[in-house]
Amino acid sequence: MNTGSTPYLDFGLEPEHLTFREQFRRFVQEQLEPIAIEAEAKGEFPKEVYRKLSEHGYLGVNFPEEIGGGGGDLLMGCIFYEELTRASAGISAGVFAHQHLATGPVLKFGTEAQKSEFAYPAARGERIGAFGLTEPDAGSDIRGIRSRAREVGGNWVINGSKLYITNGGIADFIVVAARTGDDRRSDSLTLFLVDTRNKGVNASELRKVGNHSSSTAFISFEDVEIAPDYVLGSVGQGLHQLKATLTEGRILVANRGLGIGQEACECILRYARERSAFGQPIAKFQAIAFKVAEMATRCDAARLMIYRAARLKMAGEDCIREASMAKFMASELAVQAATSSLLLHGGAGYMEEMKVARLFRDAPEAWIGEGTNEIQLLVISKALGLL
Ligand SMILES: Cc1cc2nc3c(=O)[nH]c(=O)nc-3n(C[C@H](O)[C@H](O)[C@H](O)COP(=O)(O)OP(=O)(O)OC[C@H]3O[C@@H](n4cnc5c(N)ncnc54)[C@H](O)[C@@H]3O)c2cc1C
Repeated sequence: MNTGSTPYLDFGLEPEHLTFREQFRRFVQEQLEPIAIEAEAKGEFPKEVYRKLSEHGYLGVNFPEEIGGGGGDLLMGCIFYEELTRASAGISAGVFAHQHLATGPVLKFGTEAQKSEFAYPAARGERIGAFGLTEPDAGSDIRGIRSRAREVGGNWVINGSKLYITNGGIADFIVVAARTGDDRRSDSLTLFLVDTRNKGVNASELRKVGNHSSSTAFISFEDVEIAPDYVLGSVGQGLHQLKATLTEGRILVANRGLGIGQEACECILRYARERSAFGQPIAKFQAIAFKVAEMATRCDAARLMIYRAARLKMAGEDCIREASMAKFMASELAVQAATSSLLLHGGAGYMEEMKVARLFRDAPEAWIGEGTNEIQLLVISKALGLL
């Protein structure tokens, strides 16, 4: 029976994707799982993850080879995040923010000098990136950003704050969205590359429900002065750059929800065969078997939707609707499967040492990051012509 624990022929994947999944899964189990357990207990992002991923050629798996990436396509990125999240949603959150949200836009929109200073070292795991969009008064409502950048004597001076920033406490640089125009027009935002060593940048760590092995911080910017060379692309292009980053991001981030769902399913598949009650493995009770069967079905459905969105994106087609649908389905899956799997473990599921307990804590973030599920439904409703 194919339970998702062995490489299999997923719709939309080529043989090289299957080989990658098998190799990367082994690497994750052998090299990252032990680090993840320790990092969760300490509540710190384990920075050696970048060195390990880089040494084995996995960092930037879907970045071009010329810049030190793996040269893989978006589907490789999907597999990467599914498998990494199965080991640790916290570590995967940090790597996602670093790779996709911070390094990705520099590679896509940056000058050669900006790439050399930020993106290439980041792709080698030498500098850690973060992405500063959300603020205390603006999350879903991107156009409501209040952080402001003003031109003073030829430089830019940034004032404001960012909230819930992944890698915020450990980042070497932050891609910061700030207001350079006065209203909600589409050209009122600009992205800046801010080195965290700059005077006026301060971060304080936040405590979270889950993802304990990731750093999440509040960051303030007080008269942070940066040269014009650190504008990403051109002034006023921020919203356009954010939209491009977030659409691809939703496809990739959906795999984080899927990874949690798949792992929750694997946990109960194992446990239900080992645990006996009333003289038989609990897997033999139809009430249990049906719930696991439903979970496995939802995992496959989410994976297929993700690969559809990825294939559309790779073909250069519009995939805003499909990306949001995939992200919505996968994060619903994460929460439902982690909850159901924990309950089906009985008392054992509620114990800290059980992986399913961690999945249960980590799952709700899949709902929130890269746009909450309400925002995904908003995007889908608009695509359907309803709103
Ligand atoms: C662990 C973690 C890590 C994060 N990492 C980052 C990061 O690295 N960088 C970054 O910039 N941000 C990050 N975020 C922030 C995240 O993207 C935001 O929390 C998210 O976009 C929601 O914004 P908000 O928290 O301000 O909620 P709000 O926008 O205030 O929303 C509150 C509620 O209202 C709903 N809502 C809002 N608008 C609408 C609407 N139009 N229709 C229907 N419902 C609506 C929302 O769905 C939500 O349920 C992170 C968040 C978490 C929890």
